[in-house]
Amino acid sequence: MPQPLDTLVYNGTVLTLDTTFSILNDGCVGIRDGRIVQVASRQGDGSLPDAKETVDAEGGIVLPGLVNAHTHLPMSLFRGLADDLPLSMWLNEHIFPAEATHITPESVALGTLLSCGELLLAGTTTCCDGYFFEDSVAEAARTTGLRALLGQGVIDFPAPGVSDPNDNVRHAAAFADKWQNVDPLLKPSIFAHSPYTCSAKTLKAAKAAASDRGLLFQIHVAETRLEFRSIRSETDETPVAYLNRLGLLDPDTLLVHAVWLDEGDLAIISGQGATMAHCPESNMKLASGVASAPRWIDQGLTVGIGTDGCASNNDLDLFKEMDMAAKLHKAHSGDPTVMDAATVLKMATIDGARAIGLDRDIGSIEIGKQADLIIMDVSRPHLFPLYNPISHIVYSASGSDVRHVMVSGQFLVRDRRLTTIDIDDIMDRVNGLATEIRQTGKSAKRLTLRRIRHAHRRQTSLDNARDRQDKQANRKANQNAPYSCWI
Ligand SMILES: [Zn+2]
Repeated sequence: MPQPLDTLVYNGTVLTLDTTFSILNDGCVGIRDGRIVQVASRQGDGSLPDAKETVDAEGGIVLPGLVNAHTHLPMSLFRGLADDLPLSMWLNEHIFPAEATHITPESVALGTLLSCGELLLAGTTTCCDGYFFEDSVAEAARTTGLRALLGQGVIDFPAPGVSDPNDNVRHAAAFADKWQNVDPLLKPSIFAHSPYTCSAKTLKAAKAAASDRGLLFQIHVAETRLEFRSIRSETDETPVAYLNRLGLLDPDTLLVHAVWLDEGDLAIISGQGATMAHCPESNMKLASGVASAPRWIDQGLTVGIGTDGCASNNDLDLFKEMDMAAKLHKAHSGDPTVMDAATVLKMATIDGARAIGLDRDIGSIEIGKQADLIIMDVSRPHLFPLYNPISHIVYSASGSDVRHVMVSGQFLVRDRRLTTIDIDDIMDRVNGLATEIRQTGKSAKRLTLRRIRHAHRRQTSLDNARDRQDKQANRKANQNAPYSCWI
C-alpha cells in the first residue's frame, strides 16, 4: 500500500517548466514531506491517488512559484517617495538620505514583512535580496515562509548598521556565517553594491568572503552610462572587464542590470559563466537604458528577471515584470519575435532559479524538487478565452490572479489570503512609519547630503556638465545603435 500523499493538487493545467516544457491538461501534482513526488495527468478512470488533503485547482493554471532574481525587500517603505528622477539624484538626494534617517533593524523588518506579503500574494515564492541590517531581513522573511537568498550589503561609505566602512566585508561575512544552515528556506549571500561605490580592495574581499563560504556573490554593474564612463575613465576598462580583472566573475556571481555592455563584455561573461538578473522596469523607470537581454539569451547566458527594489519599480509583481520585459524588447528592437512569452516565463521560473544557484531544488514542477508552486484562477474576464496558458501568464494575468501559493509543501496563501502573517496589521504599521518618513524627509536630505558627498566622492564627481555631455552622447548613440546600451 503506497504511503498517502500529504497534498494532492488536481484539476489544473500544469505548466511544469521541465526541460521539454511539458504541459499537462487535467494535471495532478502530488506532494509529500515538502517535495513533489508525482506529476501526471489524471488517470483514465478519473480516480485520484490517496492524499491527506486534496486541493481542487478548479481548472486553473498550476505553475512553479515565481523567482524574483533581484530585489531589496525593505525598500517597499520608500514606494512612491521619489519618482521621475535620474538614478544619481534619486539615490543621493532621496533614497540615501531617507535610508540614513529611517532605516533601523525594526523598520527593515517591517518593510521586509510588507514585501514578503506582496511577493507571496502575487505568486513569487523565492527572492534574491540585498540590503542593510540583513539580519532583520532574514528574521522577518523567516516568519513569512518565503524562500529567500539574502545578501548583506557592502558599500564603501557609512551605511545603516555599518558606521565604519572598514567593517563592511567583515559584517557581511558574519551575517553569512550566522545564517548558514539555519533554515532550509533561507540561504545567505554577499552583495557588493557596485563597482562605483566599492573600491577594488573591497570588491575582492567581498568576493573572497562569498567564495570561501560557497555563497552567491551579487553586484549591480553597468547600470547607467554615467557608471560606464566613470569606470572607464578611471581604469580604461568597461565595468565588466574591470570586475573580471579583479577576479570577481565566475558561475557564483550574479550580475544585476548590466545595461551598458560592449561585445567584449558579453564574451567575458559567457566565458566566466557569471549569471544575469534583468530588471527591465527599474531600468525603464530610472531611464538607465535597455539591457540587451535577448542577446544574452542568444549567447547562452543564464538570465533571471528581477523587480529591483520597490522604490524604483514601484511594485514587486513579477507578472507585470514579465509582460514589460517581453514588450520592451519587441518595441526596442522592432522585432515582435524576440523575448517570446515562453522565454520570459522561463526567466521568471527555472532560469531565475538557475541564475541564483537554486535550480536543483526549485524553478520547475518535477519529481524530487521542492513543492514551491502556485495556482492561478483563470475564471476572470481578462483571462477568457484560454487558448494558451503561457500567453495568459505573460500578457494577460497579474499577481492578483494568483489564488493559492505553496512553498516547500506549505500553503502560504490560500484563496488570496496570507496564512503566516497579518498583512492588515503590517500595513497599519507601515502607514505609521510612512507618516514619519514624509515629515522628516526634507530635513533628512539636508543633514545627510554633506556626509554622503564627503564619503562618496566618485559618485558626486559626476557634475552637471558631465551629465549634459552624457545625455548628448546617449542621444547620439540611440540614433545609431539597435540598443541604446550597446556601446
Ligand atoms: Zn538593485
